[in-house]
Amino acid sequence: MKIAILSRNKKLYSTRRLQEAGQARGHEVDIINTMHCYMDITSSRPVVRFKGKELPQYDAVIPRIGASVSFYGTAVVRQFEMTGSFCVNESVAISRSRDKLRSMQLLSRKGVGLPRTGFAHSPDNIKDLIKNVGGAPVVIKLLEGTQGIGVVLAETSKAAESVVEAFMGLKANILVQEFIKEAGGADIRCFVVGGKVVAAMKRQGAEGEFRSNLHRGGSAVLVKLTPEERATAVQAAGIMGLNVCGVDLLRSSRGPVVMEVNSSPGLEGIETATKKDVAGLIYSFIEKRAKPNSNKTVGK
Ligand code: ADP
Repeated sequence: MKIAILSRNKKLYSTRRLQEAGQARGHEVDIINTMHCYMDITSSRPVVRFKGKELPQYDAVIPRIGASVSFYGTAVVRQFEMTGSFCVNESVAISRSRDKLRSMQLLSRKGVGLPRTGFAHSPDNIKDLIKNVGGAPVVIKLLEGTQGIGVVLAETSKAAESVVEAFMGLKANILVQEFIKEAGGADIRCFVVGGKVVAAMKRQGAEGEFRSNLHRGGSAVLVKLTPEERATAVQAAGIMGLNVCGVDLLRSSRGPVVMEVNSSPGLEGIETATKKDVAGLIYSFIEKRAKPNSNKTVGK
C-alpha cells in the first residue's frame, strides 16, 4: 500500500518507527510535513499539494498531529479524507479529543468513570466551584497544558482558591478536579488500536511527585489491566471515534477513571515498557481496514 505519515518531525521516534514498521511490511511510506501541505479547497477534485506538486493518492494516512497545530493539522487531515484516503484517525475525532471539556462531557454522558471535574470561565463563587468537586485537596489544570505543566495540586481550600484566582487573573481556562490520592502518583496508559487495548503501561511519578509524566521524571513499566480497565479504555476510544489512541486512566477506589484520550500517543515509552511491536499492530489494523472512501465523517 501507499501510506502517508503526517508529521512535523521525521526524526521523532514515533515517526521513524511508523515508517520502518510500514516498510518492513512491504508498504511504501512517505513522511509528509503537515504544516507544509497546502490545497485548493475550491477545486472540484480534492487534492493536497506539497512542495509544488500534487501528492499521489494514498491508500492510508496516519495523522500525527501535535496539540499545538491542531487547527491547521485537522484541516489537512480533512482534505485527505475528501481525497478518499483512509485516515487512521479522522479529523473530527482528533478535534473532539483535543478539547478536554468536550471530551469529558461526551464521556460522562455515556457513563464512563471520570474524576469529579468542574469547569468555569469566571465563577462568581470560587468556593462553590471547589466545594462542588468535593473540596480540597483538588487538582487544578490549565486546559492548554501538556506534559504535566500547568497541573497543580492544592492541598487546602485556601490554596485552591488562590490558585484558581491566579489562573483566572491570567485569563486562563482551567479545570478543577477531585484529587485521586489512591492512584499513588501513578497512571495507566492504555494503547488502543482498532477497538482493542494492544499494550498498557503504568507510569509512576518520581518520589514525592503526584504527576506521573515521563517528562516530569516518571518511569514506565508493563502493567496487567483488569477487565474493567480494558473495557473503559475501549469504550473511551469508541466514544471519541479514535482508531488509534492512548487512554490515560487513574486507579481510583471506585474503579478506573479516564483522565485524557490522546490522539497521537507516543510509541517510544509504550514499546520500551511492553516490548511490543505497537507500530506493527497499527499496520495490521490499516491492512485490514484501509479501503478507498471508507472514512466515516468525510469533510465534517
Ligand atoms: P498533561 O495532559 O499535561 O499530562 P494530566 O492531566 O495528564 O496533564 O496530568 C498530569 C499527571 O498528573 C497525570 O499523569 C497524573 O499522574 C496526575 N494527575 C492528573 N490529574 C489527577 C487527579 N485528578 N488526581 C490524581 N492525579 C492526577
